[in-house]
Amino acid sequence: MKTELISKFLEKYGHEPAKNYFTPGRVNLIGEHIDYNGGLVMPCAVTLGTWLSIAPNNDNVIRFKSLNFPEEQEFELQSAYTKTGPEWYNYPLGVFHEILKKHKLPVGLDLLFFGNIPIGSGLSSSASIEVAMAYALNDYFNLGYDKIEIPLLAQKVENEFIGVNCGIMDQFAVAFGETDKAIVLNCNTLKYKLVDCNLGGYSLAIINTNKPRKLAESKYNERVAECQTALKQLNQEITLHNLCELNAEKFALHSHLITDPTVLKRATHVIRENDRVNLAAKALNEGNLTEFGRLMYASHQSLKDLYEVTGPELDAVVEFCAGYEPVIGARMTGAGFGGCAIALLKKGQEEDFAKKLTDFYVARVGYPAAIYISEIGNGASAI
Ligand code: ADP
Ligand code: MG
Repeated sequence: MKTELISKFLEKYGHEPAKNYFTPGRVNLIGEHIDYNGGLVMPCAVTLGTWLSIAPNNDNVIRFKSLNFPEEQEFELQSAYTKTGPEWYNYPLGVFHEILKKHKLPVGLDLLFFGNIPIGSGLSSSASIEVAMAYALNDYFNLGYDKIEIPLLAQKVENEFIGVNCGIMDQFAVAFGETDKAIVLNCNTLKYKLVDCNLGGYSLAIINTNKPRKLAESKYNERVAECQTALKQLNQEITLHNLCELNAEKFALHSHLITDPTVLKRATHVIRENDRVNLAAKALNEGNLTEFGRLMYASHQSLKDLYEVTGPELDAVVEFCAGYEPVIGARMTGAGFGGCAIALLKKGQEEDFAKKLTDFYVARVGYPAAIYISEIGNGASAI
């Protein structure tokens, strides 16, 4: 990929890049819809990602090109920018905006991006391009940002410059991921640890349902509100800042306070899902992938029945996986209502899996899913 990118760079700009970078996408292995309840998430970096090649120019401009989009743009170096429409280059431009508030760059830059993350399907190509840009600028100009500042800056760009209200998980995972490690992260406190996640004879299959996530935003807000209702009612008897301060046992003592059965289902998912992340970390520590896979299925079931954020497309994928022996665990990942599912698939079965899943899915849903095979990869780095 690097060689290809270098020759494309040469073709576009007439000179070679000075430096090249890679930043992955991410999946959340387990711990869904609990980040906003003070719970744990367990993302990992994947081997799909965004490549970025850069070279200085003497024209005092930033040139944005991507092999994924036709629009190209050039901006004079200045101390601040504003978002100008929906075009892709606003993502890296937002990073310049943040960085130029504090630093003056000595030269302009020619930039070329290429990504093989399916865009807009929840694998966080947006965090990947933001972190790629921030990491590259910090590295190339020796700006002195420390490790944690890069994902925080990228998140700020997504929240304020792009206007998408995301948490820190995505930027964190693509910045800090490591090969064969999962990240156990509390998104509130930013406390995290890396746990060994050697998939051994298994790969991570990523299945894009190709279902647009239209409902995701409104339902997301609805779920946040339902969790707040649960928290408020539980606080009549105990003092809680977040639902995830309770484990299942303690929750059982107070759950009678929750009056609405739907809210009770939501809170039950949250508490059990957080417990499952702890169990999943334990299973990984013990090298017990079978148990890890079981927890993935349990997570999906809970997101389907209690949290009601899956939908027929994601359910079809997981139903197929549950009946397909070389898969030991599968679940939706991300906000739900579409986007991607993940599965732990025995190596060597990729072709058979793709064929049989496609037949099953097309018969059920009417159009095909897209399947990607990935490993657990590294976070942002120079290559
Ligand atoms: P995702 O779920 O993939 O993060 P988003 O809608 O949040 O979806 O972000 C996708 C946007 O990020 C794209 O529409 C584009 O503007 C930008 N982007 C991601 N990858 C690239 C790339 N390789 N080149 C140019 N822009 C990219
Ligand atoms: Mg995104």
